[in-house]
Amino acid sequence: MLSLKEGSLFSILHSKCPKCNLDKLYEDNNPYHLSKLGSMHKNCARCGQKFEPETGFYYGAMYVSYGLSVGLMFIVAAILYWGFDASFAVLLTTILGIYILGFPLLFRISRNIWLAMFVKYNPTLRAELERQHI
Ligand SMILES: [Zn+2]
Repeated sequence: MLSLKEGSLFSILHSKCPKCNLDKLYEDNNPYHLSKLGSMHKNCARCGQKFEPETGFYYGAMYVSYGLSVGLMFIVAAILYWGFDASFAVLLTTILGIYILGFPLLFRISRNIWLAMFVKYNPTLRAELERQHI
């Protein structure tokens, strides 16, 4: 049985290896250190999973990012429009502000989702790695 400390959702939210959940995907944990935003480790130090399975792999993450962005913008616009009767200028300014401030987080979550779509979590491997203290 999966807990909240493991699995694909855990790896997406915590930027961990999607296969074993034990190693970090990025060289710098903070997505707001923009110079290291896309710097990923080549492989998982625990299970050896490649974090870029093929050249250009993360181009597909743009589709995920687009979907998340549009969904988020729609939700914010709906709340502001129907909940607060906001003007178009307020809607536009708020959405742009949220998008600009949230871009680094969205960028990483999109990559994490894209990688987790192709690499499945292996609880048996994780248990084995933890038992061996690798
Ligand atoms: Zn791993």
